[in-house]
Amino acid sequence: MTQKIKILLLFILIVQFSWAQTTTATKEVKTKAYLKGEYKKEAKGKVYTTKNQHKVEVIAPIANPKAQIKNIILLIGDGMGVSEVFAGLSANNDQLYIEYANRIGFQKTKSKNKYKTDSAAGGTSMACGIKTNNGFVGMDADSNSVESILETAAKHGKATGLVAAAKITHATPASFIAHVPSRKQYEDIAEFFISDDLDLFIGGGLDDFNKREDSRTLLPDLESKGFQIVKTEEELIEIKEGKVAALLSSGHIAKYPVRGEFLPNSTNKAIEILSQNDQGFFLMVEGSQIDWGGHDNSVEYVVEEMLDFDRTVGEVLKFAADDGNTLVIITADHETGGMSVHDANPEKGRLEGRFTTGSHTSVMVPVFAYGPGADAFMGIYENTEVFHKMLEAFKFDTSKASNHKK
Ligand SMILES: [Zn+2]
Repeated sequence: MTQKIKILLLFILIVQFSWAQTTTATKEVKTKAYLKGEYKKEAKGKVYTTKNQHKVEVIAPIANPKAQIKNIILLIGDGMGVSEVFAGLSANNDQLYIEYANRIGFQKTKSKNKYKTDSAAGGTSMACGIKTNNGFVGMDADSNSVESILETAAKHGKATGLVAAAKITHATPASFIAHVPSRKQYEDIAEFFISDDLDLFIGGGLDDFNKREDSRTLLPDLESKGFQIVKTEEELIEIKEGKVAALLSSGHIAKYPVRGEFLPNSTNKAIEILSQNDQGFFLMVEGSQIDWGGHDNSVEYVVEEMLDFDRTVGEVLKFAADDGNTLVIITADHETGGMSVHDANPEKGRLEGRFTTGSHTSVMVPVFAYGPGADAFMGIYENTEVFHKMLEAFKFDTSKASNHKK
């Protein structure tokens, strides 16, 4: 080896050594910044401070957990995974009404054809007890209609109702009354609301009933089924009994706080009317727009919708605690946004969250239950089990229906 080559090799070695030193030093600086919490400045955290915190009043535990179950109220927070619940809790001074529904389980949300479900397949699994393809409403993957818990309840003498903070023809409420192969068939879905099985519905979507492509209006058909048609919240307050079709918006219901106390008020009205039935009732209430907050990757949207949903849960739990014969189930159809909670100042209502997707995720979602029969909802199970557990809670004889056999 010549002298020149030896010098060159030595030079290369020295350069490599000093390069390695520099890299290590950079890493150390980054680690220290992370430990000091400076990473937050770089990571573009999404921070929101709510001004709409609510005080959570004490809900008494149910007096007799073995009492007969006369009523079921199912509350679905669309897109409400553990992080969305925790975002609400953290932004609300570390408390939610949901915490009083302390029989807790998880449901697995995959659909028949996709590991990542949509609201139609997820809603149909809970409503009808079957797995179906994404987009299908109240139908199996071969396009056979399947009877929903609401329809079964109606046939057994229960009063029934649907409340949603969106179009009432939207996928989740539709899963309980309609039977179509596509959630986008809003006008076809609307026709299923002209039903003897349904006593009350409150939501948006008036245009699907009276501004249709086939230029029919379904309002006279609803009236012939005995529905009182209501188009404003003021009119709804005045209604004290009977069948109710409340279509309070031409399209979707506005987001919170624009829509005001629509969801808790509508839920209270539904309970007031349905509970007049001696044989009990089934009511599904959807907090529809937690999902839209997730799709928007908006901490603000998720937190406000989540807190509005929790205030609605509070109204339901107060009724159930008083009644003693009502089973309350609070769950979701799937998680939306892959949300995570990074930091919070619970007292001040400040929350820092992030999202990993603008779509749904496949993670299992929580199920919270309160009232007689609540213990049955503990554990980890498929979303179809929500249907079967509700059916068992009502103790109907349903041996003839194919989806009712386990
Ligand atoms: Zn969604």
